Amino acid sequence: MVCHILDICWVLHFFTMYEADSPSFMQGFGRFVNGIIRTVHYICPYLRLVTMFNLILFGPPGSGKGTQSEKLIARYGFKHLSTGDILRNEIKNGTALGLEAKNLMDQGQLVPDAVVIGMIRTALEQNPGVNGFLFDGFPRTNTQAEALDALLTEKNTSIKVVLALQVSKTELIKRLLNRGLTSGRTDDVNESVIGSRIEEYERKTAAVADHYKKLDKVVYIPGEGGLEQIFTSLSKEIDERS
Ligand code: ADP
Repeated sequence: MVCHILDICWVLHFFTMYEADSPSFMQGFGRFVNGIIRTVHYICPYLRLVTMFNLILFGPPGSGKGTQSEKLIARYGFKHLSTGDILRNEIKNGTALGLEAKNLMDQGQLVPDAVVIGMIRTALEQNPGVNGFLFDGFPRTNTQAEALDALLTEKNTSIKVVLALQVSKTELIKRLLNRGLTSGRTDDVNESVIGSRIEEYERKTAAVADHYKKLDKVVYIPGEGGLEQIFTSLSKEIDERS
């Protein structure tokens, strides 16, 4: 830190002290250029953190978060953080965490907050220097939302916007059962498990929107209609804030 203050002083010193015909001009000029380069290097990570665009794609199971995430990542280059995907990966790798999570997921229940918050903390640490994070399926409770806000504050950044997809319950059930025919996801094949997931959403997750509404960060997007039309609506909200 002291070093960087010295660099900035050299830059200012050069401007105030040196005249082009003075004998120490070249020496001063060298220090001036060096000071500029080191100052820019120093502030760059902070500029990037301040300009990061972090968004939450929010909505009930089957609202199209996964599909739209893929399209948004392709257009904007966000780092995709889907807690559902991370958990399924743990299950595939047969880890202790995966085994614990599988039971709950198969019943349509949420995995404990501490587990998913820990996963997100690790993912944030493993991805320094990205332009922004797209959170998909997280946060799903107010505790998770508060933990996410705190984690981002620690990194001098925050959530820019919460884009909430709205889809009717009948359409959600139809989509999930349909997805179950090909997804290989055990939680998509059974209508009573699908029902429990939607109930969990209504009981615990819908309140997350209220948390971000208080911060004036929620925008509702109709999630029924053509994929491209929904993508255009989401992109418009991002472009307006970029
Ligand atoms: P969907 O949105 O279709 O339910 P996800 O892949 O986001 O699919 O989640 C699948 C399951 O993984 C959830 O039903 C839940 O059991 C678990 N899960 C995913 N994200 C979280 C989270 N943030 N908190 C708790 N459990 C989660």
